[in-house]
Parts: sequence; C-alpha cells; structure tokens
Amino acid sequence: MLNIQIKNLLDDKKCYEVIRELRWSEGVTCLTCKSKNIKKRGFHSHQAFRQRYTCCDCNAQFDDLSDTIFEGHHQPLRVWILCLYFMGLNLSNEQIAQELDLASKDTQTMTSQLRAGIMVKKSQLN
Ligand SMILES: [Zn+2]
Repeated sequence: MLNIQIKNLLDDKKCYEVIRELRWSEGVTCLTCKSKNIKKRGFHSHQAFRQRYTCCDCNAQFDDLSDTIFEGHHQPLRVWILCLYFMGLNLSNEQIAQELDLASKDTQTMTSQLRAGIMVKKSQLN
C-alpha cells in the first residue's frame, strides 16, 4: 500500500504565510520597540521562506519565528501547522500523533503549547 504522509505534501512557503498572518495581521511590528517602520532583510540561511526583518527605528533584527514557540524547535513548521489543523478538526492527541508520525508525548506538548498561543511568554524565557 502506498504510504502517503500529509506532512510531505505541505508547502513550506504557505506555512510561513500562515504564521505571518497569525502573528502580524496588523503588519510587521518590531519586537523591541513596537515600531511598524520595518524593512525586510532577506531570508534565513537554512529556511528559505523564513523572512528576516530590521527595525528602522531601533535597528533590532528579528524574523518570522522570533519569540514564537516554533523558534529553535526540532519539528519543522509544517508539522506545527498540521497540528493546528488537526486540532481544529478536534482530533485527539493520539490521532494527531499517528497522522504526523510523532510520539504521543511530543504531540501532547505541542498541542498544549499551541493552545496557550504561538507567542512565547516572556516569563518562560531564560
Ligand atoms: Zn524597533
């Protein structure tokens, strides 16, 4: 039987567009000074669709995933997006784990993080 994995059918470019819509529906905002005077600064060296930015007011540099739960995570963004999608369909952690070929413990961590919001709470840093 043909083994079709949905995560291999997803477009990385679209995944980054989803993230930009989720976090910057009102336009890209500097993470440091909240300015909207932002210029694009090319893409991440290893993730071709991860847009980088520079703030024209305070010179802070950040990208699409800065300060999100996705940053530095070993799961690719498409797995997270699918996880969100399956949560929207009310799949259980067990079902999501199966669809995405993940350990159920990892899936549980991901879904509880996603429920709490995609932005990292500053108190959780350090
Ligand atoms: Zn700034």
